[in-house]
Amino acid sequence: KMAKIPGKIKKLEEVVINRIAAGEVIQRPANALKELLENSLDAGSSNIQVVVKSGGMKLLQIQDDGTGIRKDDLPIVCERFTTSKLEKFEDLQRIGTYGFRGEALASISHVAHLTIITKTEDSQCAFRAEYSDGKLKLNTGFQNPKPCAGKQGTLIMAEDLFYNMETRRRALKSVAEEHNKIVEVVTKYAVHNARVGFSLKKFGETMTEMRTQSQSSVLDNIKLLYGAAIARELVEIRCEDKTTGFTLNGYVSNANYSTKKLTFLLFINHRLVDSSGLRKSIESVYYNYLPKGSHPFVYLSIDIDPRNVDVNVHPTKHEVTFLHEDMIITSITNSVENVLLGSNHSRTFFVQD
Ligand code: ADP
Ligand code: MG
Repeated sequence: KMAKIPGKIKKLEEVVINRIAAGEVIQRPANALKELLENSLDAGSSNIQVVVKSGGMKLLQIQDDGTGIRKDDLPIVCERFTTSKLEKFEDLQRIGTYGFRGEALASISHVAHLTIITKTEDSQCAFRAEYSDGKLKLNTGFQNPKPCAGKQGTLIMAEDLFYNMETRRRALKSVAEEHNKIVEVVTKYAVHNARVGFSLKKFGETMTEMRTQSQSSVLDNIKLLYGAAIARELVEIRCEDKTTGFTLNGYVSNANYSTKKLTFLLFINHRLVDSSGLRKSIESVYYNYLPKGSHPFVYLSIDIDPRNVDVNVHPTKHEVTFLHEDMIITSITNSVENVLLGSNHSRTFFVQD
């Protein structure tokens, strides 16, 4: 009989711990880009330009015109749990920024080659800093951070994503699929943050793939990004409920419009999320109004008292739960039903059986 000998328990090395954690936060290029977009929005940017190469696996580059990062902060900005957005745990209850855990840049720097070029308003010049595994790279043969020319704001480049995680790299889908995920993320943020101008371009190409103007309206951007055919059939939807403390703004397609695949943009307190409960109830309302097998376009922006939504879930966790969920879903579903009732007289009625 084999002797049963316990393995010796040892603490993992910090780089190993950090790389494991990074692999959880950054699962694919689109996740990394979402984190970077949110940082640019948190920095008060009015224009955000994205460049990607090979579905973001070779390069994810994002340039903004936000606050920039102070030179003094550059040495620690990619360490885990360094943030300018949160101080006390209690502050989470009224957090107004996307970020608060200080993990995104750290994670990216553990799974990619990360470069930051940034300039604040009060600095004479920009600084360029290169990172590896959460720290400023040493032995670069040049100053790091290094003074350079640059405009106000921040440019972040993440190159060779998962260069040190062979399995993850192989598990990624095709370049085209990763690229589509990126387009989807930028498109959804562009619709919701209509006052900010977004652009997306493939590296080395002169044509931009998508572009929105700053100071646009949500409707302008839906029309631009999803097409005039949808925009024509959209109805504005609003509701407010004092007892559960939520307000809803959005656009949903009327009964004249239908398509093969559901488009569902849901933002709760400005975070891009999913709620399968809400999604299902809305689809079930449309079921009675649309031809069999076809689906609507739905954009909803919901504001809930921040004390009633728990934002402290894993950053990749998309699905949300909130207080008074059933009541809120019923009330939203009723508003959608009213929209459909109001728009069904001018068209052929499709009966489901
Ligand atoms: P978090 O967003 O949770 O604070 P991140 O790792 O995403 O953590 O970013 C760390 C810090 O770096 C932020 O708190 C912010 O101060 C700074 N930062 C990151 N990206 C930008 C940016 N585009 N513009 C200005 N500051 C930024
Ligand atoms: Mg962040």
